[in-house]
Amino acid sequence: MRSVSVFGATGSIGENTFDLLMRQGGAEAFRTVALTGGRNVARLAEQARALRAELAVSAHPECLADLRAALAGSDVEAAAGPQALIEAADRPADWVMSAIVGAAGLAPGFRALRHGGTLALANKESLVTAGPLLMAEAAHHGATILPVDSEHSAVFQALVGEDIGAVERIIITASGGPFRDWPAERLATATVEQACAHPNWAMGQRISIDSATLFNKALELIETREYFGVDPECIEVLVHPQSILHALVGFNDGALMAHLGPADMRHAIGYALNWPQRRETPVERLDLAALGSLTFEAPDPVRFPALRLAREVMAAGGLAGAAFNAAKEVALDHFLAGRIGFAEMAGVVEETLAELSARGCLTNAPSGIDKVLEMDQVARAAAQGAIRATR
Ligand code: NDP
Repeated sequence: MRSVSVFGATGSIGENTFDLLMRQGGAEAFRTVALTGGRNVARLAEQARALRAELAVSAHPECLADLRAALAGSDVEAAAGPQALIEAADRPADWVMSAIVGAAGLAPGFRALRHGGTLALANKESLVTAGPLLMAEAAHHGATILPVDSEHSAVFQALVGEDIGAVERIIITASGGPFRDWPAERLATATVEQACAHPNWAMGQRISIDSATLFNKALELIETREYFGVDPECIEVLVHPQSILHALVGFNDGALMAHLGPADMRHAIGYALNWPQRRETPVERLDLAALGSLTFEAPDPVRFPALRLAREVMAAGGLAGAAFNAAKEVALDHFLAGRIGFAEMAGVVEETLAELSARGCLTNAPSGIDKVLEMDQVARAAAQGAIRATR
């Protein structure tokens, strides 16, 4: 029986993973080693009971009593706190879903690679902040990292049986978010509610806002480079408002291989769960005649500076990805709290990168994830400073 763990089980990706595990036989088909969540302990306990998990972990120590109460009478062990997440990752599992949101997902996913199994990686921040370290750790332990982001899963599928040396370009698509047509002046007034209203995908709050700023696509640019090892100049972003075509791979003979599918993460999660086989998933089947047309346009670098910043980060290398992600997370926290406007987020990230670059801290290649986590803290402090300076 295959053993599985899901980190971030109560989130959007986590729920879709849970849905597929249940559809594919649940506790009769999988031995669930660990499920982790954050504050939603009631849902975590429900999932743990349904999958007869051995361990359920909340990221927050203060949630332990509630988790224990919710699991009373079951055989599921309860634990809480960041160290308990690492201990959950220390329990071997054949297949691990990494779906915690933000930099908090790096350490547990990195640790899980030790067992040499499969890491299904939704947490793109892991690759953005520590891509080379993650890939080296996987190679060292004979582990497999499979992409869960829809664009990267699409590229991965288009590359099956192909020679990466024959790839000329990789094009990932972006919906353009809810503000694709908004003029710059109006962007300054965008609210959290408006920013969360993604036109096509139902996702967690943070990634939805990152989609509206195009920071999500910026993270994915870096993620593409880390997964597939191609030069940054070979990676393009194309705005495609329908979110049907997820990525294209261009080969040296002029062919473009495209991957199409509905905006439902259960496709990419199911692919990673069943790889190298395919299994049926409940996603809607596309009716292209009903769709009629698919449209494409270039992203606007002025209203959405995130993609330019990502290219600067790729050029800098070293710890720049960790700083970029941390500054973006701080800016997002402040936007969510109503302390800065939508259009100010990119400025906070740009100023943070400029300051850390002037201090000479960005380009050193990190020797381990402790250095990445240190930079995460340094960049968070610098971003807070950048925000204070504007008040
Ligand atoms: P959600 O916000 O929906 O879920 C996040 C999960 O992480 C929840 O289980 C949450 O617990 C838990 N969590 C929150 N904070 C912490 C913390 N500090 N430590 C440990 N666990 C924590 O996020 P998504 O599912 O949308 O995204 C998860 C990851 O997948 C992100 O990296 C995102 O970029 C990526 N991704 C998401 C896609 C999507 O369609 N949603 C598509 C592609 C990639 P709780 O809710 O119980 O508090």
